[in-house]
This record gives sequence, structure tokens and C-alpha cells, in this order.
Amino acid sequence: MSARPIRYAMAVDTKQCVACKACVLACQAENNVPEGFCRDWIVEEVRGEFPNLSAENRSERCNHCTNAPCVTSCPTGASWIIEGGIVLVTKDKCTGCKACVASCPYDARYVHPEGYVDKCTFCVHRVQEGKQPACVEICPTETLHFGDRNDPESLVARLLSKREHHVLHPEAGTEPNVFFLK
Ligand code: SF4
Ligand code: SF4
Ligand code: SF4
Repeated sequence: MSARPIRYAMAVDTKQCVACKACVLACQAENNVPEGFCRDWIVEEVRGEFPNLSAENRSERCNHCTNAPCVTSCPTGASWIIEGGIVLVTKDKCTGCKACVASCPYDARYVHPEGYVDKCTFCVHRVQEGKQPACVEICPTETLHFGDRNDPESLVARLLSKREHHVLHPEAGTEPNVFFLK
């Protein structure tokens, strides 16, 4: 039997999110994100025209794109993709040139005060210990689901197979791995 490659993904249930921002605070604490910056954030979007309005609360972060322009635009190899598809930045290789910041259609990266670029890591340090990302673990409404979408038995794969969903900026061709359940 051939081993299926792992493809980590997140499914964000926009109907469950109450925009409490616990995910943002948990991420800041877990990852020592400096004050005034964030690796995840909440977008509260209202669509349509009165009286036919629909609302969507989105907990957003790096989409760990399969076709990641931040990786191809990085001149030093600091931005790279590890096994499982997680996009990372090696801070010692990052010169802070911001090519990746400019190429990301999601504004998912920021320049850390120490001079390197930082962003969501899918909490790889936790995942490698068999734990869930900090934002997923803290969410009081079980909005966030993380796992291997190539494993049909995973909750993420099951949610994506049975619930309508969308990705952000599909026109950018980045093939995001963060999905928003409608
Ligand atoms: Fe939404 Fe959960 Fe984040 Fe609260 S913790 S803002 S409910 S995703
Ligand atoms: Fe790169 Fe932006 Fe995609 Fe994250 S969301 S992988 S930073 S292009
Ligand atoms: Fe922050 Fe980890 Fe959630 Fe990414 S997966 S937003 S690094 S807590």
C-alpha cells in the first residue's frame, strides 16, 4: 500500500464563529507574537442588500497555499514548504526584504520588530507533538478544525466533503488550504 502524503488544512466554520477573538489571543500567547501584530485575525463580513443580508465571521490566517507566491518570491530560501504542506519562514535566513509580504494576496505576513518576517505556522511545534494548533484548541465554539485533508477519515476531510465551502481569492491561483465552511 502506498503511503498517502499528508496535506494539513484548516476548515473554519463561519456559522459557528462568534468573533470573540479567543483564537487571536491564544495565538499571540502561544507564539510570542509582539504587541500590535497578529498571526490570525477576525473578519466580520455582511453580504447582500437589506433585507437579504447574510453575515460571515471569518477567523483568518496564512492559507498555507499549495502554490505559494511567498515561497517563489523569496530570494533567500527563507520561505519554504515542509512535509505536510506547512509554509514556514526560517528567521535566520530572512533578510526582511518583504518580497514575500508584497506577493501574498492575503496580507498574512508581518515584519517582526527583530527584522524577520513572521506569520502563522499552523502551530507546527504543537502539531509535531500530536497536539492541535493553539487557536483550534482554545476556540469555545469549535469553529476551527485542523487535520490532514488527504485522510478521508479526518474531521477536516469529512467536513469538506459534506459542507459547502470557499477559499479566499481563488482567482489568485494560490490553492489555499484554509477553507471557510458556509
Ligand atoms: Fe471565532 Fe472561535 Fe476565534 Fe472566537 S475563538 S473568534 S468563535 S474562531
Ligand atoms: Fe504565503 Fe500568503 Fe499563501 Fe501564506 S497565505 S502561504 S503567506 S501566499
Ligand atoms: Fe496562530 Fe497557530 Fe492558529 Fe496559526 S495555527 S493562527 S500560528 S495559533
